Amino acid sequence: MADPFPTCWLNGAYLPLADARVSPLDRGFLFADGVYEVVPVHRGRPFRLRQHLERLERSLAELRMRTPLAREGWVEVTNRLVAAAGEPELLVYMQVTRGTEFGRNHLFPADGVAPTGFAYVSPYPAPAPAVLQRGLAASMLEDTRWARCDIKSVALLANVLLRQDAQDRGSSEAILVRDGRVTEGSSSTVFVVRAGRLATPPDSHSILPGTTRDAVLELARDWLPCDVRDVSSDELARADEVWIASAGRGVLPVTSLDGRAIGAGVPGPGWQDMYARLQRHLDEIAGRPAMEDA
Ligand code: PLP
Repeated sequence: MADPFPTCWLNGAYLPLADARVSPLDRGFLFADGVYEVVPVHRGRPFRLRQHLERLERSLAELRMRTPLAREGWVEVTNRLVAAAGEPELLVYMQVTRGTEFGRNHLFPADGVAPTGFAYVSPYPAPAPAVLQRGLAASMLEDTRWARCDIKSVALLANVLLRQDAQDRGSSEAILVRDGRVTEGSSSTVFVVRAGRLATPPDSHSILPGTTRDAVLELARDWLPCDVRDVSSDELARADEVWIASAGRGVLPVTSLDGRAIGAGVPGPGWQDMYARLQRHLDEIAGRPAMEDA
């Protein structure tokens, strides 16, 4: 994708991203009244597209927001943007807001106001070799987000501040803790490995149900015993291995927390194995139809 402004989709039209315009009265701009998805494309194929679209539908339903497209419409938009980009490793971003109306009224807009729909692709940010060799540093921070983190809302101000706080401490991710329990990363799911068992927190209003998490759990089946259960902040600090997982980063090893080594301070054998299994899985499904991952 040589052009930094690839084709995007906005309210039914395909156009260069540089020419896309949204009103300043859009409720996404005024109120962060919108939801989004980020779908990774590996080997030219959207990964877990069905799961991403199901989560998008769920986010919309939880916020009582209309969609500009039915599911097949999102599939078509995704396929067209991926084809136009002509690259195998991409991220597809999709966003829906509650639309544009004059008046800056908190209440939902009139029935006739159409939702705003937007999608574009960008290159997949492959992890640097140093990250795969040495792992990431993370900081444990108090989870200051709202009470419905299960909704993939564009209202990401707390996530932005937490990620910046982590960065200012020399870390690549903030691992969030609420009432002594790990929730998730500022933009990732958290896994811990201890004594040969994998654990990750269960679904609740405090975490986003991660699509990559589900892929990791499926790949761990028949190999690494896995518990979906609460994980305390103490357990996190004492883990043999910590991993983070997201559509935009895959599964990556965390090798230090607040400046102290996790386990041996290098990517552990569990992560090495999971990373290899995920790459193999992506190779295996490369030829399959987009909606048939799992
Ligand atoms: N939790 C949060 C807060 C996120 O922002 C993300 C992804 O961006 C995730 C978890 C991981 O979700 P997924 O694996 O579907 O990308």
